[in-house]
Amino acid sequence: MSDIDLQPPKAVILESGRFRGWDSVGNVVVAMELTGPLAAHLFALTPCCQASGKGSDSETGVVCRACYETVDVYFGGPAEITYPAPVPSIPLDQVVDRALDNFWDSIAKAYPTVMTGDMDPLESHRFSTACEDVVRQWLRDNAPEPEEVRA
Ligand SMILES: [Zn+2]
Repeated sequence: MSDIDLQPPKAVILESGRFRGWDSVGNVVVAMELTGPLAAHLFALTPCCQASGKGSDSETGVVCRACYETVDVYFGGPAEITYPAPVPSIPLDQVVDRALDNFWDSIAKAYPTVMTGDMDPLESHRFSTACEDVVRQWLRDNAPEPEEVRA
């Protein structure tokens, strides 16, 4: 338990799979990239907009990329996690892939005499894309509000 209120990440940040947790004062911390050398590079999102910092000629040298208000120089540099994300963060398409594996396992169990799992690749792509769209909408409709998140 923390004694500070942790702001939940925006749905779009949850979708990206880059959410890693919160820093010591409750700013949302994300990985710069999902994979590769920059995946270990963490930075905090601005408290005003949950956006990245952007270099500028402002007083601190950094502004919020979304509203262009001056923010602390901290938002232009690396961050550390104090409160880890409550669940492992993976990108939405991987979440859907795993769910579809379970879906097709369930279908196959319902039709035990069917011995193959062939499916038209285009139809398969359409189906997974439709599922991703639905999950994306579900996240937007159900991403927790600030008062619902306590770590
Ligand atoms: Zn802002």
